Amino acid sequence: MTGDGTRSVHAGLPAAQPGEPFLPGPVFAAPYHLDPRTGAVGNEYGRPDNPTRRSLEAAIGELEGGTVRTFASGQAAITGFLLSVLRPGDTVALPSDGYFAVRAFADETLRDLGVKTVLVPTAGPYPSFAGMRLVLLETPANPGLDVCDLRTVCAAAHADGAMVAVDNTTATPLGQTPLALGADAVVASGTKALTGHSDVLLGYVAGNDRALMDRITRWRTLTGATPGPFDAWLAHRSMATLDLRLARQSANAAAIAELLADRPGVTSVRWPGRRDDPSYPVAAAQMRRFPGIVSFDLGDAERVARFLEASALVYAATSFGGLHTSADRRAQWGDDTAPGFVRLSCGIEDPADLLADLTRSLDAALGAG
Ligand SMILES: *Cc1c(COP(=O)(O)O)cnc(C)c1O
Repeated sequence: MTGDGTRSVHAGLPAAQPGEPFLPGPVFAAPYHLDPRTGAVGNEYGRPDNPTRRSLEAAIGELEGGTVRTFASGQAAITGFLLSVLRPGDTVALPSDGYFAVRAFADETLRDLGVKTVLVPTAGPYPSFAGMRLVLLETPANPGLDVCDLRTVCAAAHADGAMVAVDNTTATPLGQTPLALGADAVVASGTKALTGHSDVLLGYVAGNDRALMDRITRWRTLTGATPGPFDAWLAHRSMATLDLRLARQSANAAAIAELLADRPGVTSVRWPGRRDDPSYPVAAAQMRRFPGIVSFDLGDAERVARFLEASALVYAATSFGGLHTSADRRAQWGDDTAPGFVRLSCGIEDPADLLADLTRSLDAALGAG
């Protein structure tokens, strides 16, 4: 197998053709010309068919190790997956500490469709999966950064007859490949580190079960939540630097996690790559690299506001995985976190500059010393 940098640069590209670009530009089309006699020639209409989207799907598929269908956002991919798999009377296990909008969807939509939800913390303990149709895992979980042992949980779920899907948003396929660890499907937001430029919304489902992926494809065609060609092209273009971006983000996270851990007034510092983090043993065994996100607690909302106001490099913004370091107080979104809980997403700035800026802004938030 070639290295991650090589794979990122070449994923999904067509074979070299003299006179053609490395990555063909976006194809903008609603209908395509048909053969007047025989009809379809591969591209009929933009909702099911788009070559730019197919190239992006080939690229993500190479990294995840499966067939990929992209969606207009991570939520479109996850809700589309849940609705195409779950039926009235089914039970689904969802992470109690995962992306909050998935729990909201279960409360506001799945319940009315007769689907029962069981919430399970990512770090466990895991219940018996007997009688469950689907187990959705999210590791590392956003925003608390607990991890779960995918091989163990997948084996237990399969033994009980349940299917497993893993939200791979935080790790990205260069951080871990859940399909190779036993998952039946991957769901993810490509809005975050996968594309990493804070300018695109994207989601995808990946899997190797032909019938399942046919069902997902059919779902997408009938419900219509497809990414547009320009977004698909931007995403594919951005993926070429995935290895480089993740490497710098992870190095920045390592340095920042140490700074925060040594700083009086900062509590509950979490980063799965720190040796004394509760997630470290499983993350180190399972993941190929550690994510660029650190979470911590400044005690209250006022201190978080002072921290963000004082910082020159940490943008006050939600989302994560982008080139620019950013942070947000999760409780403002109704996420079930403490009032001073911060999720900090490390960008690709120089580590020394970030450390200096964070030291200054923590002084402003907490008082020097
Ligand atoms: C952001 C996110 C989503 C939703 O993705 P969108 O692209 O914003 O719709 C789902 N899961 C996780 C873990 C996320 O961080």
